[in-house]
Amino acid sequence: MNDWKRAGLRLEDAPPLGRPVCVPCKLVMRCAKNEFDVQIIGGAYYSGDRWECNECGASVVVGFGSATNPTTHHESIEVQDV
Ligand SMILES: [Zn+2]
Repeated sequence: MNDWKRAGLRLEDAPPLGRPVCVPCKLVMRCAKNEFDVQIIGGAYYSGDRWECNECGASVVVGFGSATNPTTHHESIEVQDV
């Protein structure tokens, strides 16, 4: 059980731990897809979680673990690191 639940707090009182927030919409995003692979051009693949904003549809990938092998059953994108 989460600390905030144990303390008798409501969902509205829960911290958005690890969850992205959409600044323009002022909404905590929802997890839309686990195991979403990202490859920095020419580099290794890393698997993360894709989050979406329910209001504007903005989408981000965060929560990367260790490098993974690209597979056809995972969604993936190639990105630049600026
Ligand atoms: Zn939004």
